[in-house]
Amino acid sequence: MENQEKKKIVLSAIQPTGTPTLGNYLGALKNWKTMANDYNCLYAVADLHSITVRPEPADLRRRTLEMYALLIALGLDPEKNTIFIQSMVPEHAQLAWILDCYTQFGEASRMTQFKDKSEKHPDNVNVGLFAYPVLMAADILLYQTDFVPIGADQKQHLEITRNIAERFNGLYGNTFKLPEPFIGKVGARVMSLQEPTKKMSKSDTNVKGFISVLDDDNAIMKKIKSAVTDSEAKVYYGEGKDGVNNLMGIYSCCTGKTFDEIEKEFDGKGYGDFKTAVGEAVIEELRPLKEEYARLINDKAYLYDCAKLGAEKASYFASRTLKKAMKKVGFIQIDK
Ligand code: ATP
Ligand code: MG
Repeated sequence: MENQEKKKIVLSAIQPTGTPTLGNYLGALKNWKTMANDYNCLYAVADLHSITVRPEPADLRRRTLEMYALLIALGLDPEKNTIFIQSMVPEHAQLAWILDCYTQFGEASRMTQFKDKSEKHPDNVNVGLFAYPVLMAADILLYQTDFVPIGADQKQHLEITRNIAERFNGLYGNTFKLPEPFIGKVGARVMSLQEPTKKMSKSDTNVKGFISVLDDDNAIMKKIKSAVTDSEAKVYYGEGKDGVNNLMGIYSCCTGKTFDEIEKEFDGKGYGDFKTAVGEAVIEELRPLKEEYARLINDKAYLYDCAKLGAEKASYFASRTLKKAMKKVGFIQIDK
């Protein structure tokens, strides 16, 4: 616990919309683990966010616990850091409403995720989907967060968070810390294995497009082997080689090898050898996570205890910021 107060604050969240993909893992979760030692980290399962796509209630409950178990399986320590389920901390929804009133319709309309997801679910373009970035701003600002480890797809949402915070601070004086994104260099954007110009996404309906971190070894190898590449049969990073570029990025993330080293390694070899090597590297990378998860998911009582502790700790921090914001806006405050 020493220096806990002085450590910089890190917050990030992941939605329980499906099992995390290799993209979530390399773009976000792996960094979560790395940062856990040096920062005061708060990590959330963002279940409030995930009802924008209306999951089955039983599925949502199951996936939320699975996602929570996965976070602990990463090796995160629920005592040392704060690992929580977003809906158990009501301050998120409360601050989100306030911030909604300080977010312009025009700026929220410019979010590319809103446009993408509206196209994916044209029958359910709800106000929650539109206000998603504002809830995300609340998630972050509640904890006076310094850094937010995210994949490149969330960069725009972090910018709007800063804009909302600046606007609020400008009107009422310093209330929220302005957060910085933390985007890893490689793995920041893992692309779909089937459509390598689109990002890999756990809610993709084409399961061949993504590797889930709990896929068994055979499934991983099969999906990598059937990944879309090109007809050139030469392993190098280049324009128009989205499929190969993506596999190189994945391989680099899992092995620590640079793109130059990878090009040399596969000089004169075809895509068959390359894909086998990528598949094996991914399998090895995910093995410890899968083993730990298998152990934890059967211990519901332990997971519930951790979730309760996480929510208490998160709420303790969050309520301080919420109170401050409510006071500034002009809500009456009477001590209980
Ligand atoms: P959904 O399709 O439900 O939005 P998702 O795969 O985009 O699922 P999120 O829960 O929205 O996952 O995001 C969790 C974290 O994973 C975020 O930090 C996000 O930036 C990161 N992330 C998501 N997709 C990728 C990707 N393809 N490559 C790298 N990072 C990613
Ligand atoms: Mg997403």
